[in-house]
Amino acid sequence: MRVPRVAYDFADVFKKHGFQCHLVGGAVRDILMGRLHADYDVATDALPTQVVPLFPRVIPTGIKHGTVTVHFHGTTFEVTTFRTDADYSDGRRPDAVVFTPSLEADLARRDFTINAIAFDLVARSMHDPHEGRADIERRIIRAIGDPSARFREDGLRPLRACRFAAQLGFRVEEETRKAIPGALDILAKVSAERVRDELLKILASPVPSEGLLLMKETGILGIVLPELLEGVGMKQGRYHCHDVFTHSLAACDAAPRESLILRLAALLHDVGKPRTLAAAPDGRPTFYGHESVSADMTREILLRLKLPNIVIKDVVHLVTHHMFNYQEEWSDAAVRRLIARVGEPSIDALMALRRADQIGMCPENAAHFPEGLAQFAQRVKEVKDAGRAFTVSKLAVDGSDIIRSLGVAPGPKVGIILKELLQSVLEDPSLNEREKLLQIAAGLLRERLGGP
Ligand code: ATP
Ligand code: MG
Repeated sequence: MRVPRVAYDFADVFKKHGFQCHLVGGAVRDILMGRLHADYDVATDALPTQVVPLFPRVIPTGIKHGTVTVHFHGTTFEVTTFRTDADYSDGRRPDAVVFTPSLEADLARRDFTINAIAFDLVARSMHDPHEGRADIERRIIRAIGDPSARFREDGLRPLRACRFAAQLGFRVEEETRKAIPGALDILAKVSAERVRDELLKILASPVPSEGLLLMKETGILGIVLPELLEGVGMKQGRYHCHDVFTHSLAACDAAPRESLILRLAALLHDVGKPRTLAAAPDGRPTFYGHESVSADMTREILLRLKLPNIVIKDVVHLVTHHMFNYQEEWSDAAVRRLIARVGEPSIDALMALRRADQIGMCPENAAHFPEGLAQFAQRVKEVKDAGRAFTVSKLAVDGSDIIRSLGVAPGPKVGIILKELLQSVLEDPSLNEREKLLQIAAGLLRERLGGP
């Protein structure tokens, strides 16, 4: 085992006080697979109250469940006392955790064999009673014990199986997979926060569609994201090779992995299409207005999944504006108007979403379409570099100028005038000078706004 020095140093503190310290969970898996891992799960026979005084920086993250978080030499350790979980009567959370001095008992309560390997950091030896190492080698997710019973104990585990499959590129072993449909009623009762955390890990996986397809095939998607299923089998127009559902997954795969916002936006950008389906005169399917239906549904879905408001706002914004269709013939003014409409800070994300969308339409489009987008990116850059105004706040006049120089009473009319001035400046940036703008405003007042 290539264990980082810091983990041994951490374990030394336990050793000095006569406690055990085992590396468990994701870090063991990753080290065995030759990967790096950022934070470490550790299991110990020390009670939480005995761990707290050992370190200066301890956060009682889940003290009821026996977990504390320790920051040690720049690394985060989640320390959990050996425990067995008593009675999961409703499948949401164990009713009570019972601490145990036995590592074997602690490993037996864990979900999958690959997650139940312990590396004793004091004795420097491996404990693998459920043959997790063999399953890592075979790239298999297998429940410990009877999968049906384990899934009914905690309804989140089936979703975790999909998460690990996507995250690691593993297969879910047959018996484990077959047990999932029988536990969906329990999954339906699991808290949105726990579901969200697993779903976000699927979206951050190299190929999220691997997890999402498994969710569909096992029935999990019908519980967690039923809206996506409306697009299964729904044919689209001539630029598309896939049905709406497959396209959404392909777009999600194509979105940059490091951006949760883009992965969410790509997955949900067309979620409203099925509800806007109509037929063109020639019989082709149309989805007019789907971007706003998709945006509304996206907001609802992300609220239900308890995502932070700031994430919801960004994703909904991107979904709302995803339909722009850049053409070479666009004037500079058209490019400026689009930037003004979506906001300068969102324009790069919107282009990335569009790119993922286009790659998700047809694999063979990948080579062709993004050329147009690259050209659009260049146009955006030129327009931005020219230092043009895209917002009212960048105009050469402000509200108080309008009030003082033109005698307009403070009120909504001032805002209307500023917005009109911005439209003029987007059309012709040379108009962004104080005298010129005041002149245009005076004209507006006279001709369209009935005076000051
Ligand atoms: P990651 O790399 O994402 O942190 P992980 O395997 O460490 O993956 P965690 O959710 O951090 O996953 O959980 C740590 C360990 O706790 C797991 O490896 C597993 O042994 C155990 N565990 C976590 N959740 C459950 C659960 N719902 N049921 C049983 N055991 C669980
Ligand atoms: Mg972990």
